[in-house]
Amino acid sequence: MSGIRSTGFLHLGNYFGAIRNYVRMQEEYDCYFMVADLHTLTTHPDTTELKTNVHRVLAEYIACGLDPEKSALYCQSHLRETAELYLYLNMLAYTGELEKTTTFKDKVRQHPDNVNAGLLTYPVLMAADILLQRARFVPVGKDQEQHLEMARNFAKRFNHRYGKDGEVFPEPQAFNFGEQLVKVPSLDDSGKMSKSENQNAAIFLSDSDDQIRNKLKKAKTDSGPTEPDTPMPGYIENIFQLLRLVSAPDVVEKFEGDYKSANIRYGDLKKQLGEDMVSFIRPIREKAEAIRNDEAYLRRIMEMGAEKARRNAGITMEKVRAAMGLQYY
Ligand code: ADP
Repeated sequence: MSGIRSTGFLHLGNYFGAIRNYVRMQEEYDCYFMVADLHTLTTHPDTTELKTNVHRVLAEYIACGLDPEKSALYCQSHLRETAELYLYLNMLAYTGELEKTTTFKDKVRQHPDNVNAGLLTYPVLMAADILLQRARFVPVGKDQEQHLEMARNFAKRFNHRYGKDGEVFPEPQAFNFGEQLVKVPSLDDSGKMSKSENQNAAIFLSDSDDQIRNKLKKAKTDSGPTEPDTPMPGYIENIFQLLRLVSAPDVVEKFEGDYKSANIRYGDLKKQLGEDMVSFIRPIREKAEAIRNDEAYLRRIMEMGAEKARRNAGITMEKVRAAMGLQYY
């Protein structure tokens, strides 16, 4: 189970941190992938663009290879059970632990005029999404590690307090096929690539060929190493990281060799990366554009996904209410 907020176009971080694994997982597991529209409201209270953005994420999911016949693709707010479980879990979450969450502290810094309680309880809502489907594996990027730890704590706390007749929730694990979780860097070397901050430091799955080329052309470099085996500065390492994601192994090897022997030409490196990135993104962009305009199809997908997710959520909530003793007749 996993999801992405409907706050705009998806970027390479969303793809390599999350969606790539969704696509792989749907072949082996029973999967639930949603558009997290309720989480969006914690930072984007204006709902004018919400419908367009929900459609956008769904279209990009499908364009990246998610198959609505294999996975349940749904919208978070279509499962009213989420709100109920969120309420119960809030009683098990301590304000102290929520206030210490890194993402909460970051968001307070970014939106000092809108520090709402939903922002504080963001990890509780996320735990509700995951536990509602009794999910074991959650494909996410590295930035979500702490939230997953919290979801595990809430599951353990619930099981401990109410699970007298056996465990209600499995403990969910962040998942990347046994590999380290991924963090795609931003192009301006300011941390992780993200939707919300500098738009020029992120490459979006909707970017035109020229936008991609231009953004990569502007990525920070320097005059290059003057001696062989010079350690790589972070911003150059970031470019190589992107190269490893989209370019062929022999291309990566060539530029790594050039760097090592202090013969690298960053102009060539960025040009090659630009072309490989364009070849990677173009088919996704074109497919997503076509799907986004087919509202009837998107509606069918959302209804089908919600029905499947709701069925499973219903089973969970029966167990939850019974375990908590919320049955009076
Ligand atoms: P954003 O941070 O861009 O608003 P979300 O919070 O909706 O995106 O994250 C959706 C998914 O994409 C999560 O699984 C998150 O870990 C992953 N993700 C987002 N940015 C990155 C990144 N730069 N590197 C790796 N994974 C990322």
